[in-house]
Amino acid sequence: MLEILGIALLCMFNSKAAKARGRSGGAAVGYTIALWIGMEIVGAIIGALVSQGSMAGAYVFGLVFALIGGGAAAVIARLGEVRAIPQAPWGPGYAAPGYPASYPPGPYGAPAPPAPPGPYQALGQSGPPPPPPPMPSGPAPAPAPVPASIPGPPAPGDQPVVWQDRRSNGSTYRSHRADTLYAAAEALRAIATPPPNTYYVADTPDGSLGRDLFGFFTEAPLKTTALAVKPGAQPAAPVGAVSLTAFGDAMKSQASVAALKSAGRYASFVLQLECGHCGYKSPVETQQGEFERQCYSCGTVNQTRRGTINVLTGSGFVEI
Ligand SMILES: [Zn+2]
Repeated sequence: MLEILGIALLCMFNSKAAKARGRSGGAAVGYTIALWIGMEIVGAIIGALVSQGSMAGAYVFGLVFALIGGGAAAVIARLGEVRAIPQAPWGPGYAAPGYPASYPPGPYGAPAPPAPPGPYQALGQSGPPPPPPPMPSGPAPAPAPVPASIPGPPAPGDQPVVWQDRRSNGSTYRSHRADTLYAAAEALRAIATPPPNTYYVADTPDGSLGRDLFGFFTEAPLKTTALAVKPGAQPAAPVGAVSLTAFGDAMKSQASVAALKSAGRYASFVLQLECGHCGYKSPVETQQGEFERQCYSCGTVNQTRRGTINVLTGSGFVEI
């Protein structure tokens, strides 16, 4: 009975240790049991031979060998380095020049990112900021009923944005056609954070950019070269990007990208690339290592880099 409890505890500890190193917990349980029982049988046979058939000899040798087997399993489960769950260094509103290749230690104990500034401030938008919302004195008023299609604020140099609604399986899809990714990004940023199960998608000739309650998303690769940019813009020679920053809830965004990827679907982690030429923040698809993206506003090629992001999901770590 005690022995079964011992194996169970060791299996639990070894499984946890293996998982923390990005390996299978089930496999750790497997070799823990195999090593324990296998070594116990070998020990019992040797003990019986050495002590000329004595049960006590077989028992003592069996126990000692089982402990050696269990110890070996514990060592195997602890091989390699513990992989920390990455902490987004660019929490909402936090700008990190040149995305760091390595992360600060795990999310626990890491300093909290600064409180996010309002979206207009964070975006460095040139227009006048909206007036601050009045401080509610009593209970919040009930939200107004949502009309079928909401005209948003006009995108610069464009017609007023009208979102076409489509409902499917309890979700609302609001789509809009834009001429450029620049106009798409402006239209998507101008809306308030969407409620759950509401997806805005702005379709452009260079690809479709979406927004949900976590931030920006894409469902297929965006074009990265020869983009249509803001009318009249003049691209400059390639520059280094100023920063890559998150928009919305970066941790939830990463989790959602990881979940889609592990389900075999297309997903890319979108961050705002701050242009080294004009300062505009383009929501671009990112990848690990060095990459280049054209600024949606001026068309200048920006060079940047992003570290590896491993997200812990139900089925282990997923690199995004
Ligand atoms: Zn630019």
